[in-house]
Parts: sequence; C-alpha cells; structure tokens
Amino acid sequence: VNEEWRVALRVIDKIERAGFEAVIVGGAVRDFLLDRTVNDVDVATSALPSEVKQIFSATVDVGIEHGTILVLDEGEPIEVTTYRTEGTYTDYRRPEEVTFVRSLEQDLERRDFTINAMAIKKDGTIIDLFGGKQDIEQKVIRAVGNATVRFREDALRMLRAIRFSAQLGFSIEQKTLEAIKVDSDLIDFIANERIAMEMAKMWKSDYVYNGLRLLIDSRLARYLVGNFPEQINQWKQFKTAKPEVGWAYLCLLNRQDFQKIADFYHFSRKEKTFIRDVLNAYDALQSKWTAMDYFSTNLDVLETAYDFAIWQNLDVPFAKESIQKVKNSLPIQSRDQLAINGNDLIAWTSRKKGPWIKVALDAAIIAVLHGYTENNAENLKEWFLNDFINER
Ligand code: ATP
Ligand code: MG
Repeated sequence: VNEEWRVALRVIDKIERAGFEAVIVGGAVRDFLLDRTVNDVDVATSALPSEVKQIFSATVDVGIEHGTILVLDEGEPIEVTTYRTEGTYTDYRRPEEVTFVRSLEQDLERRDFTINAMAIKKDGTIIDLFGGKQDIEQKVIRAVGNATVRFREDALRMLRAIRFSAQLGFSIEQKTLEAIKVDSDLIDFIANERIAMEMAKMWKSDYVYNGLRLLIDSRLARYLVGNFPEQINQWKQFKTAKPEVGWAYLCLLNRQDFQKIADFYHFSRKEKTFIRDVLNAYDALQSKWTAMDYFSTNLDVLETAYDFAIWQNLDVPFAKESIQKVKNSLPIQSRDQLAINGNDLIAWTSRKKGPWIKVALDAAIIAVLHGYTENNAENLKEWFLNDFINER
C-alpha cells in the first residue's frame, strides 16, 4: 500500500482514540483488493464534521455540507467524510442534502455497486455486507440492493456501471444490466457535464471497446451524442491515457456533428483546439506531412493523428517513433529559433514596418526548413535580398 494509505491509517487511529469509528471506504478498498493503483483514499467516520475538526488542528472545509472535511494530518491531506445517507432523490438525481448517521452499514447501503460498497478497518478486516469481494472475484458490477430502485434514485449510476466495466474489464450483472435497459432514458435528467466526466474516464480505460458495446447494449447510447452503434468496429483498437484523445476520435468519426458533440459534452476551449489540430494533422497525413506540418504541429497532436490513422486501418508508411525523430532533426523547432527578426529585415531594406514583415519571416522559416538557407543572419540576409526581394 502507498503513502496515502499510511496517512489514512494514522488518521483512523487518531479518530478511534477520540472514541469514534473510522474506516477506509469505497474505491480505495476496491482497488486495493484488485491490486490496482489506489488513487484517492477516502476515510469514513462516525464522527460528525464538527467532531472531526476538534480532533485535528488543521482542516479545510471542502464539502462540509456533504460531511467531507479535508484533514491535514502532519501536513498530509486526506478526506474524511461522516457516515451519511442521502436525502430524498428528486428528478432521478442525487440530492444536495444528506443526513449524517452513526452506522457504517447505512453509509455502505447508499453506495452504488457492491465492489464500491466495502470498507476496511485499521486492522485489515474487510467489511463486506453485499458480496463485493465475491463480485470482484467474479468480475461483475452489481447494484447494491434493487438495481431499478438505485438507478431511479440517481440515473448517473447507469453510466457509472458502464464506466467501471470499461475500467476494470468487468461484466454487468444481468439484473443490473436489465434495469439499465428499462430506464436508460432517465439519463436525460443528468447534467451533461457529469455525463462527460464519466465518458472522459471511459476514454482512459483499458476496455473502451467493451464499454462502448455495453453502452449500446444497455440502450444508453441512444441518449448520447455520437453514432456508436454504426461505428463500434472503429473503436476496436482505440487506446489512450488522455481523455481529449477520446473526444477527438469521437469527432473524427462524427465530423459533420463536431459542433453538436462539442456543445453536448461541453468541450473546453483547450479541448476544441486540440481536436481541431488533430483533425487537421490527420488530413495532412492523407497526402504526406510536410516539413511545415512537422514544424508547426505539436508532437502529441502528430502522434494522436498517427494513432487515428492506425485505428482507421490506413497504411502509414513510417513508424510512430520517426515522428519525434523528424521533428528533432528539423533545422529549427520553433519560430523564435529563427536567427533573424523583423528589425533585421527593416535594417536591410530601410522599408517601413508593415504586414510584409510577417510574410517575409514566414518565408524565411520555410526557406530554413527546406534547407534553401542556413539559419544564421548572414545566410538569411543573402537569401532575403537575392531570393525573397527579387522574387517579388
Ligand atoms: P474513481 O475515483 O476511480 O472514479 P471511485 O469508486 O472512487 O472511483 P468516486 O466517484 O470517487 O468513485 O466515489 C467514491 C465512492 O462513493 C464510490 O466508490 C461509491 O462508493 C460512492 N459513490 C460515488 N458516486 C456515487 C453515486 N452516484 N451513487 C452511489 N454511490 C456513489
Ligand atoms: Mg474516487
């Protein structure tokens, strides 16, 4: 176990000494049992937020209305959340207000899936009230309690089921999947931002293709933007560590719907720029990347466009590794490496400042990239006065 886990155990010890219960819960327990990297370790406790604050000298109210306090224990941060149940669910969404309770059992009951509803005590005892351990062994996602009831409480859980199966390579237990099929339309009640967050986690998953198949089988795909049923085979080889690559690939497959997709999933400005750059690079690759393409496009954009071509089963006549090699072998890597600037041009011509400077500098970059001149002031001056000016 990692550093954060150690901090969690120390915090649990301090809470217990103060006379309360505390355990590690949720995703951390699941990932620990799966031998996966544990990301954030959540501690749950019978102590109320105010009581937690009395135990630790340094705390931050990060989500006190939900019972979550960020404890800085010996300078190390860990989230501690009071055992709680959720209030009444309206419009198929999770409620804003929660009720604090003193029993762990009630806290575990409100969690979505059996694999997410376990706790682990300081001494290593696992509290598994719903068969989560067995479901981990059998690799299934199963709702805690009655699946239909749980999905009607919070429809996002339907998409979470699919995201977890994409991450873990698990199947969805039959009744749980049936319940999603019946109520898939309820996903419309969920804010698109939350849908996009789950999809973003899905893009980074190890089993995206399987996840998308489940998205279709569960009928959830009908309520999302993107033509998943017709394009499913084009996702077979998809694999990435970066969610924006998933969004970009979705846009490649649904080019005519770029704006619709961008709006539906609330793409940021940065995501939109990345996607446009990748699609442009992908198009450029259809003919051949020029020195200018290598020069003006970021490595990750070029590599992503390359991956797309592979996933689309196009013939690409070079290895992915050569992209970086070609880029590094360019005489200049960026505009500011050009050995001259606008002032040089003005000095050499005694012409006035104007838009011609940018034109000339762009031409100089191309001349350097193509090896018509070396990148030093002397050669560039020669090129400029003989070739550039005379050509005009
Ligand atoms: P990851 O952090 O990898 O996405 P996680 O299991 O930690 O996975 P979180 O969204 O961080 O997922 O939630 C932490 C825990 O809170 C879950 O393990 C689950 O027990 C509970 N939980 C989260 N969202 C819901 C929900 N919509 N309905 C019920 N329980 C939930
Ligand atoms: Mg988490």
